[in-house]
Amino acid sequence: MNFSFTLQATDGAARAGTLTTAHGEVPTPTFMAVGTAGTVKAMTAEAVRATGAKIVLGNTYHLMLRPTAERVARLGGLHKMMDWPGPILTDSGGFQIMSLAKLRKMDETGVIFRSHLDGSAHHLSPERSMEIQHLLDATITMVLDECTPFPATHEEAAKSMRLSTRWAQRSRRAFVPREGYGQFGIVQGSVYEDLRKESAGALREQNFEGYAIGGLAVGEGQEMMFAMLDITTKLLPADKPRYLMGVGTPDDLLGSIARSVDMFDCVMPTRAGRTARAFTSHGVFNLRNARFIDDAAPLDENCNCLACARHTRAYLHHLIRCEEVLGPILLTTHNLTYYQSLMQGARAAILAGGYTEYCAATRAGWET
Ligand SMILES: [Zn+2]
Repeated sequence: MNFSFTLQATDGAARAGTLTTAHGEVPTPTFMAVGTAGTVKAMTAEAVRATGAKIVLGNTYHLMLRPTAERVARLGGLHKMMDWPGPILTDSGGFQIMSLAKLRKMDETGVIFRSHLDGSAHHLSPERSMEIQHLLDATITMVLDECTPFPATHEEAAKSMRLSTRWAQRSRRAFVPREGYGQFGIVQGSVYEDLRKESAGALREQNFEGYAIGGLAVGEGQEMMFAMLDITTKLLPADKPRYLMGVGTPDDLLGSIARSVDMFDCVMPTRAGRTARAFTSHGVFNLRNARFIDDAAPLDENCNCLACARHTRAYLHHLIRCEEVLGPILLTTHNLTYYQSLMQGARAAILAGGYTEYCAATRAGWET
């Protein structure tokens, strides 16, 4: 089976498609729950499946340090280890080295860093990142890149983007093609149109199975992010999936789908679930708030997840007040279910030609 992407419908610039992989099909637009260290935090794989998720993300940085990629491979790969036979996308490790590791140093060869866990020294090159993701058995492998910090001058952004381009070429050469597996390039260039064009053009020459848009949602604001998406998605081949990395809020997702993005990942729904916040069809709730103490209503009457179908807001509030571990479990279950239902609703609306109306109705709901 080939790794492929087929478009079923477009509505304006919004797209509904299907990603076909060695580990199953993924209807798009799709949201990937973040399974940092071989688990979506607070969730069994079965519970993640019950939210409607079809694909999850694994973090190379965490897994290369613990339990190590070689050990994951000996245990049969990440799919087997975490009981997720479906598609898995792994990041390259670069972004988290820059945000988590100590004493990092970057040069043409790659990134040298010390583990935030035990201070041990490591070197991550494009070739080693590809090897690690291969050992993990990633369905989708990401090239090693540098996520250009924001703000960056044009000169800084150009230098960073060109290093990422050279790493993408090395990553492509090091990638071992397998039936139904793919590799995505990552467009960089900060907020500069000419650099985004140069980056996308160079990546297209490598003929990746998909293209990610990186270096956004790093502080530039939603308006600038949308402006960059308007520019960047037009530069990418229509018959390949587009993945916006690390985004975002429900409103970011709706606006990005309208700009031709097919795939997303973000820690927001899982992290919020562990800090008492719930994304609902009526907006964001903080369940720690005392106003929920006697509230016998379900968290979201439009949701059929375990938290909403079987429990009250008052009970969720109680669990959080008592710091019971079930509180974060139920809120994570709900938030991931909400994100999946948002994607399913978007896909159905695009197929029916009513995406604009869907966005308007969803946004109106958040205000009530
Ligand atoms: Zn729910």
